[in-house]
Amino acid sequence: MEHYLDNAATTRVSDAAAQAALAAMTGEFGNPSSRHQAGARAAQALKEHRTVIAKALGAKPEEVVFTSCGTESDNWAIRGAVHLNRRRGKHIITTAIEHDAVLEPCRELEREGYEVTYLKPDRMGNITVEQVADALREDTVLVSMMLVNNELGTILPVAEVAKLLKQRRSAALLHCDAVQAFLHAPFTVSELGADFISISGHKVHAPKGVGALYIKNGIKMPPMIVGGHQEDTLRSGTEATAQIAAFAAAVQEGVTRFEQDSVYLKELKSYAAKRLTSEVIGLELIGDGQATHILPVSLPGYKSEVVVRFLSDMGIYISSGSACHKGKPSHVFAALNLPKKQMDGVLRISFSADNTKEDVDALVTALKQAKERLFTSLS
Ligand code: PLP
Repeated sequence: MEHYLDNAATTRVSDAAAQAALAAMTGEFGNPSSRHQAGARAAQALKEHRTVIAKALGAKPEEVVFTSCGTESDNWAIRGAVHLNRRRGKHIITTAIEHDAVLEPCRELEREGYEVTYLKPDRMGNITVEQVADALREDTVLVSMMLVNNELGTILPVAEVAKLLKQRRSAALLHCDAVQAFLHAPFTVSELGADFISISGHKVHAPKGVGALYIKNGIKMPPMIVGGHQEDTLRSGTEATAQIAAFAAAVQEGVTRFEQDSVYLKELKSYAAKRLTSEVIGLELIGDGQATHILPVSLPGYKSEVVVRFLSDMGIYISSGSACHKGKPSHVFAALNLPKKQMDGVLRISFSADNTKEDVDALVTALKQAKERLFTSLS
């Protein structure tokens, strides 16, 4: 029996999403650009799927552009925003705990002459609107801030930042990476007030290979890909109709089950936190992240990579930090300035509504065994 507790890395494709993909691949498989009826039906389906995603965001369908993943959405938003504001300045504000999908384009821009301020979190992983206020300048052209951190589960004050930019009459555009927030922390585009919002399918029970970027009405975004004029000329390339169909089906389910899943996940996370801290001696919770699906902990004195491998051999899957880091210490936990022993032992447990208390029980038992069988590190 396997216990998958790494849902911030990716989620199982739901049955409804898989069925929607299959139907789009084998039934209504036409090219939405084709002029015949099969094409028209595919175009109609695409329109309906876009409406589902837009509704979940509280956006208009024309404000949602499908991309291949959250990373593409992040890259495009950042590149697009600085291009649109290229005559206004060369200063960007972001945080030290963004995903690499945001940090890497920022680093590229630094090499091209931009100045980037990376706001540091406090020990609990929180960033405040005052930090943004202090960093904001006349020549700031972009603020990029995630809504939910993928490793800590902390919620960042994006809506307050939007208000601040308005108050200061700043020309800076606001991008929000909402990949871990979408269908986990409730928001609508108007509540958030961002100009760009990135989301990704595979974090919400859709397949890998599809994401979306919300682009606020009125923003004349430069295209991501040029070619056949798909996606209102913003992102050419034949639309990934199967992934998009699955994305819409997963989002529809996620919206319908939102209240019920939030309550369930909150309770499951709290059950896990209680059992882990009381039964796995030495285990500590990290930060005070409010997201219901992410629980970061540390087993000080133990190397997280070794623990993850030990658990994996027992069929229990968690992460030693972001899955994208593959063994390197995570920049997110590094930004918290944790003592080395605690930092080395950092583990991320992340839930979906597919998980049960039995998964948590198996994890607790396995971590107790890990403590008995593994050597502590000398560091
Ligand atoms: N942003 C955040 C906060 C994430 O957690 C991830 C994935 O881990 C991404 C962006 C990248 O999304 P994708 O895997 O769809 O490219």
